[in-house]
Amino acid sequence: MRARAISTSASNARVGDGNFFSRSRDGRRAKTRARVGRGRGGRRIDFLERAPGMARRGRRRGRRARWPCAGASADGDGTSTAIFHFERGCAYGTKEMKDLLGSKGSGLAEMALLGLNVPAGFTISAACNERFAARGSTYVQSELWPDVLEAVSSLERTAKRTVFRSGCSLVGRAPLLLSVRSGAAASMPGMMDTVLNLGLSDACVAACVEAGFDERWVYDSYRRLLAMFGDVVEGIPKMDFEVALSQARSANEVRFDSELPAEALKKLCDEYKDIYVKHGKTFEQDPMNQLSKSILAVFSSWNNPRAVEYRDINRLSGLLGTAVNVQQMVFGNFNDNSGSGVCFSRNPADGTDKVYGEFLQKAQGEDVVSGVRTPMMISDLAGTQASAAEELNEVCKELEKDYKDMMDIEWTIEDGNLYILQCRVGKRTGTAAVRIATEMAAEGIITRDEALMQVNAKQIEQVLHPVFVIDETSAEYSGKIVAKGKPASPGAAVGAICFSAKEAKEMKAKGTPVILVREETCADDIGGMFAAEGILTARGGMTSHAAVVARGWGKPCVSGCGDIVFKNDREIRFGSSDKTFRSGNVISINGTTGEVLNASFPVAPSTIETFLPLKTFMQWVDQKRGIEIRANADTPEDADAAIRNGASGIGLVRTEHMFFSTTDRVHAIREFIMAQDETSSTIALEKLEKYHYEDFRGILKAAAGRKVTVRLIDPPLHEFLPSEKQLREGGAQEMSRYIGKSTHDIMEIAENMREHNPMLGLRGCRLGILRPSMSKMQVRAFAQAAIDLTSEGFPVTPSIMVPLVSTVDEFHNQRDLVWGVMKELAKENQQPPIRMEIGAMIETPRCALIAGDLARAGASFFSFGTNDLTQMTYGFSRDDSDAFIKPYIAKGLLRDDPFVTLDPVAVAELMDIAIHRARDIRNDIEVGVCGEHGGDPASLRTIDALDVDYASCSPSRVLVARLAAAQAACSRKEKVKTKPFAVTAA
Ligand code: ADP
Ligand code: MG
Ligand code: MG
Repeated sequence: MRARAISTSASNARVGDGNFFSRSRDGRRAKTRARVGRGRGGRRIDFLERAPGMARRGRRRGRRARWPCAGASADGDGTSTAIFHFERGCAYGTKEMKDLLGSKGSGLAEMALLGLNVPAGFTISAACNERFAARGSTYVQSELWPDVLEAVSSLERTAKRTVFRSGCSLVGRAPLLLSVRSGAAASMPGMMDTVLNLGLSDACVAACVEAGFDERWVYDSYRRLLAMFGDVVEGIPKMDFEVALSQARSANEVRFDSELPAEALKKLCDEYKDIYVKHGKTFEQDPMNQLSKSILAVFSSWNNPRAVEYRDINRLSGLLGTAVNVQQMVFGNFNDNSGSGVCFSRNPADGTDKVYGEFLQKAQGEDVVSGVRTPMMISDLAGTQASAAEELNEVCKELEKDYKDMMDIEWTIEDGNLYILQCRVGKRTGTAAVRIATEMAAEGIITRDEALMQVNAKQIEQVLHPVFVIDETSAEYSGKIVAKGKPASPGAAVGAICFSAKEAKEMKAKGTPVILVREETCADDIGGMFAAEGILTARGGMTSHAAVVARGWGKPCVSGCGDIVFKNDREIRFGSSDKTFRSGNVISINGTTGEVLNASFPVAPSTIETFLPLKTFMQWVDQKRGIEIRANADTPEDADAAIRNGASGIGLVRTEHMFFSTTDRVHAIREFIMAQDETSSTIALEKLEKYHYEDFRGILKAAAGRKVTVRLIDPPLHEFLPSEKQLREGGAQEMSRYIGKSTHDIMEIAENMREHNPMLGLRGCRLGILRPSMSKMQVRAFAQAAIDLTSEGFPVTPSIMVPLVSTVDEFHNQRDLVWGVMKELAKENQQPPIRMEIGAMIETPRCALIAGDLARAGASFFSFGTNDLTQMTYGFSRDDSDAFIKPYIAKGLLRDDPFVTLDPVAVAELMDIAIHRARDIRNDIEVGVCGEHGGDPASLRTIDALDVDYASCSPSRVLVARLAAAQAACSRKEKVKTKPFAVTAA
């Protein structure tokens, strides 16, 4: 005999630490012991056993729920629990048991525990799906089946109704009908959905009619079962049923299904059965066979191609399968006093604390979402169903308190009684997320730390940028997508297509918003890019010119959109579609997702300046975080944006970016590169110095006394020249016109500069050492700007950073260079030198190891350039790694792209070593991180765990980084200052 009740002895099981609880209304927790252990062969097994005295109080009138049967029963091998009952007031499950019960099942159990009015039922665990996958349908039909039978009969006792069997009398009570619903731990479209009204059959329908039940209700329920069972269990196209239904509507001259009379519905049922026959099937008349077929269909759907693909794409692995929820039906289609609806406990669009949702009178659940009729707003419910509306409000509040979050709820009213059928944490916009988190904390539902954890990076980013007013998950939106590129700079933009910068400026001047569409952008396009609402390019990635410039401005940009086909320079089409888009045609781009839309959707502006809850929220963020967030900014505008977003300084000014921004600047730097003698080099440098001075002045001013760290020239100089191909195809000629050198000379100089491996070539401080005039000019421009601002009464904190240091002598050389210039300037200005800190950028593994020596040599701060440090630690070229990193991730050889997510293992260890060695020499030496990692939440967790003072990221990521740093602080226990790895000092 197999064990019926749960076995309490588990001799070979290791007792785990899981504790599951049953909660009574007043919040007292009664313990249910749960054990998790390993069975034979190491398989994970779960036990649940009810502790004596477990609280099972009903919601109203203190009703004590009668426990229907052994509760959780054991499956075939007598070890692992297969079935988990729930009914109002008690349940064998909690919201924490998502893995086993699925999200729907765990929610039903939780709501039942809370005493909410949930129709009784049971959940067959996801572990059974795993067993089914291993053993096939015999597992369900023979091993699991006795348990299901017993669970159904216990449900019959609870519901005081029975599943219809022939000869059954229905006088005075309706038959027990069931809903069978799938539900995995993660929401998963593509699996079998729901069968409602299971248990109806020809005989049952006849008996119901004979017993005097409303015929309309009976046939309406039956036709729904026939269609749903046909679709999801028998695989008959849904469309066939829908066609018959719409024919019935026209034949009866009604607009809505709910207006069809009983006669028509009865006829429809017959037609539906004919559809079965047409497909070579017959409708299963036996209720228990209906049930077993449905369970099998749910279990099998887990591995259907659509579901498998969905899990692949969303990297969902390690799930057991789907659970099956079998539940007593309640009827929203019962009479005019009935209906079905969905709602959010607060408004998911703007976060307002008011229940928000829709419902349909005289309808069953799927009608509301399928759009067969236009639903009514929930605010109208109070007019027709006052007490149910009030109860729904209460339920929302209660669920919010329990889940500590905004909830999405599905419910049905049967003859005036409210039943709750599903709950989950609700999806919301960024604005709503911030408002809900702050208000819930203010209401005391959650703590401030919990509020900080409730808002994610994507949401906070949304608040920063303009967004489409339309719901981006709607069919209306997705139907308009014509192409996809890289999400280069977030935000939504709408405008008329322009193919040149000139055209963009002209149209903008006339008041027409434009989207600039280019193959790729260059410095000459700057004006047009600035005039445009958004930028769309056919080529280039996340770090292309268009992407970098747009991000700096916070302007939406989609780059590398390979779907764009230029038919000529005035016309494009997208992908395989023939539709031609000309200049002036309106399109929308979504820089957050990379989508291009053939639509003119309204856009709502960023709310960062005006949105009060955001101010409060960010205050909490700043109180919590353990590291400073600075920004990487290369222009006064960037610096200004960064400070407005709450950066506490400028952690990195990439001086070379200042040469890219206008054509004049590009020409000036090329002139310097091409200069073969002292005089022409000096002339070029003087031009550059003027640009630098203005920019540095603006940046220092925007920083308003906060620290500004300028990095001396870093990239190999040939990066400023056109490519070899461009030079040959007219680029050299153009340069020649400007610089006054022969094309031949230009080609030759460029040729001599070419390197096999530029990343490891003449760049960084090597350049500053071998061509010091450039670095000296930079120091001069920066220091002079600082001196002038000081004398004008503006506070400044300037510092200079030496890039790509590998030896102490390199650092000495560059420090002397800086001091030399500072002394010269002091003399020229006839005043003592201003304070200028000089630090080193740690970008090579060697530099990390000699950080102690550098500190001793007088480096006053360090900043990790994690991009180069990653490149050199892995030996992965930043520029060529796309070719193997993606395949590596696909093969499971890498978890993440280390250039996106900082490697918490080796790169972090190198950083840790450097920090300890530096702090051993000077405990208070400032250490920071600059580079793209500083804006990535996962990387910030690693950075936060290190003993650093700040992270610096792009201006548009500052808000995200502040939040991520606060969240890292919430989830970290204590910042542990461990001893460094046992490597003896160099
Ligand atoms: P989904 O996963 O698509 O949300 P559900 O399993 O929640 O699907 O079922 C869809 C709808 O079916 C529910 O919103 C509800 O209206 C209806 N439904 C499910 N179970 C029952 C039930 N026991 N009684 C009445 N209606 C139900
Ligand atoms: Mg649902
Ligand atoms: Mg670098």
